Amino acid sequence: MSQLPPSVPADSVVDAVGASAGLAIGEALVFSRRRRLRLPNYQLSNMGLVAAEIFRLEKAQAQVRGQLLASRGQLPPELCGQAGIIDAHLLLLDDPLLAGEVRRIIWEEHRNAEQAVVRTIEKITGLMEKVADEYISARLADVEMLAYALIAALTGDEAGRMPDLPAGAILVVTDISPAELTHIAQAKIAGLVTERGGHTSHTAIVAQALELPAVVGAKNLGSRLESGDTVILDGHAGRIILRPNQETLAFYRARQEMEWSFKAETIRSSHLPALTLDGRRIAILGNMELEDELPAVLNYGGEGIGLYRTEFMYLNRQALPTEEELFAAYRRVVETVAPRQVIIRTLDLGNDKIVGARMEAAGRGPDNQALGLRGIRYCLSNRPLFRTQLRAILRASVFGDLKIMLPMISSLDELRQARALIVEAERSLELQGLPYTYDLPLGVMIEVPASIFIARELAGEAAFFSVGTNDLIQYSLAVDRANPEVSDMYQPLHPAILRMLKIILDLGRETGTPVSICGDMASGQLTVCALLGLGAEILSMPPAAIPRVKRLVRMSSWDEMRVWAEDLLSAGTAREAADKAARHLNGRFPEMFR
Ligand code: PEP
Ligand code: MG
Repeated sequence: MSQLPPSVPADSVVDAVGASAGLAIGEALVFSRRRRLRLPNYQLSNMGLVAAEIFRLEKAQAQVRGQLLASRGQLPPELCGQAGIIDAHLLLLDDPLLAGEVRRIIWEEHRNAEQAVVRTIEKITGLMEKVADEYISARLADVEMLAYALIAALTGDEAGRMPDLPAGAILVVTDISPAELTHIAQAKIAGLVTERGGHTSHTAIVAQALELPAVVGAKNLGSRLESGDTVILDGHAGRIILRPNQETLAFYRARQEMEWSFKAETIRSSHLPALTLDGRRIAILGNMELEDELPAVLNYGGEGIGLYRTEFMYLNRQALPTEEELFAAYRRVVETVAPRQVIIRTLDLGNDKIVGARMEAAGRGPDNQALGLRGIRYCLSNRPLFRTQLRAILRASVFGDLKIMLPMISSLDELRQARALIVEAERSLELQGLPYTYDLPLGVMIEVPASIFIARELAGEAAFFSVGTNDLIQYSLAVDRANPEVSDMYQPLHPAILRMLKIILDLGRETGTPVSICGDMASGQLTVCALLGLGAEILSMPPAAIPRVKRLVRMSSWDEMRVWAEDLLSAGTAREAADKAARHLNGRFPEMFR
């Protein structure tokens, strides 16, 4: 954690969890739903009134549902990938823990709906205090937030609604509700502090997506501050300084200036090629899921699309997308990115993606999907659906430079079967006289550990490899990537992962098979240098990471990275490797890895 200047009195410092990097200095805007809501309290004297009260509750539920759907519909592009947070609340709205309990209190205890909700909140808060687990607490906090939204809808009370957020303010709030995401994204606040939440909380994910400095888990901060108080928020260190003196303000303003100018220079230079100091050219591509993300990839200097995730058009809808619909979308992407390449990944419905169309199409439940019918397996056992997608991809291929990539490959058979289906799709298009590009490059994702050990055989039949480190880590370390309970064990710098990456990168070089890295390791602060040192020459990442990684490449030399990677490879544990990486980076790029 960074050092405090001597001018800061200890009692003005609140240490919490840094959720999104960056410094913010501004006036606090303290908002507490709890303090503001009006709470009528009365007994229902007969069953007619009880029935009417249930009806009132249902109306309030419908209103909250409408607010959530409206917020979902207006999510800005940076937050489209986070729509699942809102979906989770939509499901919770009918959860027995909330609506069931509120109903029970109205029916059995004849309390008015607002009081029934308050009692339910008290019960949930009591549970939260007993649970040490961050994940379960977060779920309970979600229920509590929805309960407050219900009270606001029942009373028609605007006071529980988040106020207008003045530009430059630092919002201090218990928690952010999904219905408030759009409001926050549209405001021009300088920073965000929540009293609840940890590294994996929604607030952390959203703040990172918005590049908004944020600190979470600052318990009871709202009671130590008044709106209008000046605060310094240090998202790197997870720290808040209350009512700083002039000397402290001057110190942090200078640091903020440096940070801003570094960031501005990084963005300004993002269209320069990523060339190391010793002349090694690294290709930097963007990952995308929604078309809305495409301008960001190109504006940030992405040299094409290294991973086009195609699941989105299959989620949250009743009917499967048609070939025409898919073709039109793929064509738009390919045309926009041309002459640069687009690597389109065939459907990878999996455990981390929302179930919906998949369940209907497959007629199966979602249990243990990580080890179930996901990725290429799912497509090979749902051939009509796969054929439709392949035909759409082939038809879009004539509009630019398109390559196909297969997810979750664990055997040569899967690659061969997929190729056979592509050839079949080519023939069917030919018969219909529809144009397509013959023999598109077909690559495989290296994300199931088995694929590393059959990589030589795969290299004989695949045009390229792309390492999906997110899944590779999940499957190699047996750690569910979406389960916060085991998030500490999700270790990109685990010796097993580094050694597997070395095997695949060496084999790529030996066989002349291009290997890109498209999982989160390609943009992680500590991991990207390790990848470069191991010999990675193609990296694909979320758009916002592109300028920073390009700048990092331009500031480094490959020789130096190779020495670092050797050092990391000699570590016996992930902790040791992470410490080594942090030492190298902090020493060499203090302005980037503060
Ligand atoms: C990966 O697994 O690293 C990857 C890039 O794909 P996804 O995150 O979509 O599974
Ligand atoms: Mg994957």
